[in-house]
Amino acid sequence: MILDELDCVVAGAGVVGLAVARALALAGREVLILEAADAIGTETSSRNSEVIHAGIYYPADSLMARFCVAGRKALYAYCRERGLPHRNCGKLIVATSAEELRRLPEIAAKAAANGVADIRQISAAEARELEPSLSTTGALLSPSTGIIDSHAYMLSLLGDAESAGALLALKSPVVRVRADDAGFEIDTGGDDPLTFRSRLFVNAAGLHAPALANALEGVPRHLVPPAYYAKGSYFSLTGRTPFSRLIYPVPVKGGLGIHLTLDMAGRVRFGPDIEWIDQVDYQVDPERAVLFYQGIRRYYPDLKEGALAPAYSGIRPKIVPPEIANQDFCIQGPESHGVPGLINLFGIESPGLTSSLALADHVCRMAVQSRF
Ligand SMILES: Cc1cc2nc3c(=O)[nH]c(=O)nc-3n(C[C@H](O)[C@H](O)[C@H](O)COP(=O)(O)OP(=O)(O)OC[C@H]3O[C@@H](n4cnc5c(N)ncnc54)[C@H](O)[C@@H]3O)c2cc1C
Repeated sequence: MILDELDCVVAGAGVVGLAVARALALAGREVLILEAADAIGTETSSRNSEVIHAGIYYPADSLMARFCVAGRKALYAYCRERGLPHRNCGKLIVATSAEELRRLPEIAAKAAANGVADIRQISAAEARELEPSLSTTGALLSPSTGIIDSHAYMLSLLGDAESAGALLALKSPVVRVRADDAGFEIDTGGDDPLTFRSRLFVNAAGLHAPALANALEGVPRHLVPPAYYAKGSYFSLTGRTPFSRLIYPVPVKGGLGIHLTLDMAGRVRFGPDIEWIDQVDYQVDPERAVLFYQGIRRYYPDLKEGALAPAYSGIRPKIVPPEIANQDFCIQGPESHGVPGLINLFGIESPGLTSSLALADHVCRMAVQSRF
């Protein structure tokens, strides 16, 4: 039985799906959010560093660069307007050798090309004045980096969407979608399977977006990217934190290196590292602490043995294999796959949280432009 004729369905209630649903609902669209889990934001959106990124590292003109810078500005404004817990604490990218020091101007130039105008290089002495526990040969200071309570943010997005008329259905995985001339017929699984019709279908299923796109009938399969999982584990610091800013090493291939972030309660966590895996598995292997101690002591030599405790992990939704260093967000609309009303969001890894409001505006514009 077809239960309802809808305007827009968004599959996935992570931070991106919620931001998209909010933007569509505020634009006057009728929106149903279908979420597989029994709560919002239980996957990557609650397994990240909760950093509001400035937009430093991404290739110029990439979607990541554009949406991170625009999304960061929009996110700070949104947090201020709503009184959401966040802190513009700033970050240091610290070199720990002469070779790393030589790489700092290149990172600063990349940031400037992306429109991050406030980043500046400081000496080792200046860095230690800001953060006395640091060991460094010189650093970049990024004043516009910050942190956010991502759960409070997601609840606020959902609240806005619901106030504008959107509905959320939990425990409602999308299992099959058939595209036809009038839109989509969508089957949900779970305990109470239902079928809906919708004119617009947004696939915001995060790690599972490629699998969901492969379950879409009438869509060219060769355009669906493969899914690769790059797990990142975190360890927390027991005891008092000696730092008041985020501390990042000079980036390594495939990630930003084992960095130090703070949460809104002032607790310190280190990570994420990078481990390519075949299946979703969020266990943190305590043995990985050895590599954390090594990496962290390069910039924080006083880290005491036994101070790290396994915390949690997240999985980067990669669409390129390990040997390819850069991946961009991949947003496919009708102009790429030819299916009216379908928008697929693939590879929304970091800085997806920071970019969420800008990504949502972009998806909303795509929906308007394609008249769906
Ligand atoms: C280790 C790590 C650290 C990160 N740190 C940061 C950071 O500091 N700052 C930053 O800006 N970004 C960061 N990110 C990136 C950010 O977390 C993600 O870009 C963002 O959370 C992606 O949100 P999403 O909504 O696309 O995906 P998700 O949060 O994964 O949401 C997808 C949702 O879809 C649901 N779903 C799946 N399949 C179906 C289906 N068939 N039907 C219905 N629902 C379905 C899932 O249950 C899930 O709730 C980090 C990512 C990782 C992995």
